[in-house]
Amino acid sequence: MAHLLSNERYFPMKFRKLGPGMMGAEVFAPRAALPQIVSEALRVCLQYDLEPMIEIHFLSGGDGLLLCYYITDQTRQLKYTIDSFRGLLISSALIELGARPYSSGVWNHVFSENSDKEELRGLEKAKREMDPQGIMNMGKYPRLGGRLAGLPAALFSPEVLGNGLRLLNLLGPISSKVIKLISSGRAFDRADDDPLLRAADECAMCGACVGVCPAYLVTKDERVTGRGKLLTARTMSVGEGISTEHAHRTFLCMRCKACEQVCQSKLQLIPVYEELERRLARLYGKDNEEIAKFVKQVESSPAYDALVERGLVLGAPGRDLREGG
Ligand code: SF4
Ligand code: SF4
Repeated sequence: MAHLLSNERYFPMKFRKLGPGMMGAEVFAPRAALPQIVSEALRVCLQYDLEPMIEIHFLSGGDGLLLCYYITDQTRQLKYTIDSFRGLLISSALIELGARPYSSGVWNHVFSENSDKEELRGLEKAKREMDPQGIMNMGKYPRLGGRLAGLPAALFSPEVLGNGLRLLNLLGPISSKVIKLISSGRAFDRADDDPLLRAADECAMCGACVGVCPAYLVTKDERVTGRGKLLTARTMSVGEGISTEHAHRTFLCMRCKACEQVCQSKLQLIPVYEELERRLARLYGKDNEEIAKFVKQVESSPAYDALVERGLVLGAPGRDLREGG
């Protein structure tokens, strides 16, 4: 029963398993130290190839809560594990500068020495009193317990993992190279690691690319947008067929990169379109006449002019690209 309740309670979190999501390091720091903490967070992120989004909440007691987020993907196990580790490296670097961990629990067990001891004891007491059977937040405790002869607690301890993180941060560029090497290892990729499927998985389906796509503004057909092309890419990658008309519509694209500029998942979409078009051309051929007519129509449309004015059209003019491609 408790298991069912827990499943129900955490149902919304299951969506994370469908694709990209956020992960990050979260620390408290005195307000005066925030400029230094923020620049350190940026430096460490750069070192570990992360593009961070930083948020600060100013708290009433004079502290700031710094949230340093970056994109990860829970469907890619190795990437997710390495990204979790990168989060610990960031927290460790910030804690070295006097920040305190924001939360207590499994991942932050390594920083338990830097937590507010009194608060931690209060949390443990409240957990024991309010949930003596351990039904709520199953498996989550302020500190790691004594399972498997205390091995997890020992490995994640400040002495073992804490010193390891400190050492890796000291080695800076060397550890960053090692981490990059591990994360690029094909041996860890999924069996179905197809670049088209990967991009489709990473698409948040937010639709931000639809409203800025000149191809969509002219054709009113969603299949020509970034989101539409990624849905087609998924269909192709899982071996399903599409109609010839659908395939030919997918070629309608100005390569303007407006979609890339607004993409919420920061996807590099143009190489995906190119690969998709290569596969489609092999299976369905390519209608050059339809493409040429489309390019002319877009280039003479006020919607395209408006996008150019907004600085969203970064690619070379569509006609040249299409003729070259
Ligand atoms: S490159 Fe331009 S035309 Fe092509 S899908 Fe992206 S926004 Fe649309
Ligand atoms: S903006 Fe990016 S993430 Fe959002 S639907 Fe378009 S391609 Fe997908």
